[in-house]
Amino acid sequence: MKIVIFLGAPGVGKGTLAAVLAKRTGAQHVSTGAMLREAVQRKTPAGVSAKGYMDRGELVPDGVLVEMMDEFLAETPQGAMLFFDGFPRTVPQAEALDALARKFKSAVSCVICLEAAESVILDRLGGRRVCPKCGAGFHVRNVPPKQAGVCDACQSPLVIRSDDRPETIKNRLAVYAEQTAPLVAWYERQGVLKRIDASPETEIIADAVAHIVRHG
Ligand code: AMP
Repeated sequence: MKIVIFLGAPGVGKGTLAAVLAKRTGAQHVSTGAMLREAVQRKTPAGVSAKGYMDRGELVPDGVLVEMMDEFLAETPQGAMLFFDGFPRTVPQAEALDALARKFKSAVSCVICLEAAESVILDRLGGRRVCPKCGAGFHVRNVPPKQAGVCDACQSPLVIRSDDRPETIKNRLAVYAEQTAPLVAWYERQGVLKRIDASPETEIIADAVAHIVRHG
């Protein structure tokens, strides 16, 4: 199992990039946000406890995430390449991931740190639309669906994520700066961090990142 982490502020484009690269390389895109949203929809115990945190733009407690990822990795074939989007988000989660990686005889092979100005991030969050049924992501200008407001994959009407409202966005960016940004230095010390300018279009960034993922 090979793990690549996509790190960066909400809205910087982790999910879009991970999805594009997963398609190109055959890797599996692993979004903890999407897993949690599905758990909320299905009203599982993890979903019920996560909902309030997510609606407020706060982080779901580390224990919920670590258990979820333990279960996920236990079911993942040994030869898989995984693109983690949204995990880890705190230093304790990163420490737990190291332990899980050892448990499943895997390792974090590189951490792609996506960086962009706040104006770019706010624009990407403001235009984001998602499919509530299959989880596909779009942007009104940058990644428009073929038919406005309709999912390309399953034709469901697209929605604005409940945590993409302006008040919640502000909170999520503050939570990122306080709890997730310290991971940049943490992975830099481990020698696995690669910084990428995330302001160009996805396809351009994807070429640079595909090279790093292949050649380390
Ligand atoms: P995302 O789709 O990655 O933006 O995640 C949406 C929301 O899910 C976040 O704002 C958090 O509330 C929750 N979430 C996703 N991943 C994590 C994580 N690794 N740790 C804690 N909360 C998470």
